[in-house]
Amino acid sequence: MQLEHIKRLNYEMMQKNVELEANYSEIEATNEELETTNEELIATNEELEVANRDLFGMAEELKKSKEEIEKNMLVVQKANEELTLLNQLKTNFLGMASHELKTPLVMVKGYAELILDNKNVQLDGTTQEMTVQILKGADILNAIINDMLDITKIEAKELKLNLVAIELKLVIDSIISEMGAVAKSRGQRIMLGNIPDVNVTVDSPHMHRVLSHILSNAIKFTPDNGKIKVYAKEVKDDVLASMYGYAEPIEAIDIIVEDSGIGIDENDYDKIFDVFYEVGDIDHHRSSKSAYLGKGSGLGLPICKGIIEAHSGRIWVESEGVDLNTFPGSIFHVTLPLVQTHELRKEGEVATAPKKVETPAPKKRLKKQPKILLIEDENDIIELTSLVLESKFTIGIANNGADGIKKAFTFKPDAILLDIYMKGLNGYEVCSILKENEATKNIPIAMFTAGTQKYEIEKGYKVGVDDYITKPFNPSDLIARLEKLISKKKDRKK
Ligand code: ADP
Repeated sequence: MQLEHIKRLNYEMMQKNVELEANYSEIEATNEELETTNEELIATNEELEVANRDLFGMAEELKKSKEEIEKNMLVVQKANEELTLLNQLKTNFLGMASHELKTPLVMVKGYAELILDNKNVQLDGTTQEMTVQILKGADILNAIINDMLDITKIEAKELKLNLVAIELKLVIDSIISEMGAVAKSRGQRIMLGNIPDVNVTVDSPHMHRVLSHILSNAIKFTPDNGKIKVYAKEVKDDVLASMYGYAEPIEAIDIIVEDSGIGIDENDYDKIFDVFYEVGDIDHHRSSKSAYLGKGSGLGLPICKGIIEAHSGRIWVESEGVDLNTFPGSIFHVTLPLVQTHELRKEGEVATAPKKVETPAPKKRLKKQPKILLIEDENDIIELTSLVLESKFTIGIANNGADGIKKAFTFKPDAILLDIYMKGLNGYEVCSILKENEATKNIPIAMFTAGTQKYEIEKGYKVGVDDYITKPFNPSDLIARLEKLISKKKDRKK
């Protein structure tokens, strides 16, 4: 019995043992699996760590780039501010310099003209020729100063246009007949090609200036006996369209001046329209309108560009390159939209209504000499102006504004010539006082100044100025303008 029991126990234990062994193998298998998973996890973890490190590095790099971009943006912003300031300074400088240059120029030009016009002065041939040269020099200088003032106006978007519809043929004909003689002096031929029968809406004097400058350049950069072609064609221009945000090409007229001259390098296509930019050796500077390779102030094409852009058009050039031996030639284009240009005009560029053509007042013989009061603080100008006016007028002089007001009451002038910038009361103040006073309000006042800036002129008209006479003046022009002012006043009284 006892044995039986022990045997059974033994059997059960063996049974258990087998079970345990089976369990053990299972556990071992699971253990192995767990180990593999663990290894895999470790590997994944390592990978993640590497990825993490990479990400961290990238984040650092991004942060650094962001900082650098911010720093660069600050530099660009600062440079931009400096450029704007420099540009403003340049504009101020141009305006100021031209102003200051004009006053001494008045003297040179005025006296030279006076010497040549004065019948009482006997000049020998040499002196006469020298005086003519002085006048020529002064005229060139005056033209350069006017160019500088124009650039200042263009950059300040103050260019005023009097737009009138005019036949394109008329515009081109007048320029060709004017420049024909100049080209002929160089043995060159200007050939007029087809000009479509269209009207263009332009400011005639400004357009005339642009086209004659381009033609004059064509003459200058083409050798003797060369050919220049002028023609125009109707085009559909997609550059204008993209300039003004149109989806479809804009109908335009392309005016083309094609020369057989030295040509222009592709790198200079845009630069020649920059202020003061001149291609090559500036020793070639010459003042003549036609001298071969002669150059001017370097302001001509930038002014043309300003004028054409104010007309909502574009001016551009093409050429096969520059060569002083083979003369590849240049082709200048002025592309003007044929649609209403004011619809395209960019903000800030204003066009005024067409100016009425003034009929000149009939010249009258005045019985006694009319009286002019000159209010001016520069003695040299007083002396020169008196010299010019004394044959036609009785002159009263005031050296400052306060004295001018007093003399307007006592001297009772028929017209007043009034300088703007004087110590004490300035010209605007004097004018508004005189125009507000019953006894003096009918005396015509002409501002007499080198200032031709838009705001100066507008300010003058606001305080009641009747005319604007700019220095340097032409003696006969000054006399004619004053006579006109006086006779207008008399007409008003009738
Ligand atoms: P400037 O007022 O001195 O005459 P522009 O502004 O008219 O100067 O022209 C600038 C420069 O463009 C000239 O100095 C010249 O180098 C170049 N240029 C202009 N027109 C022509 C042309 N038809 N052929 C070759 N070069 C030209």
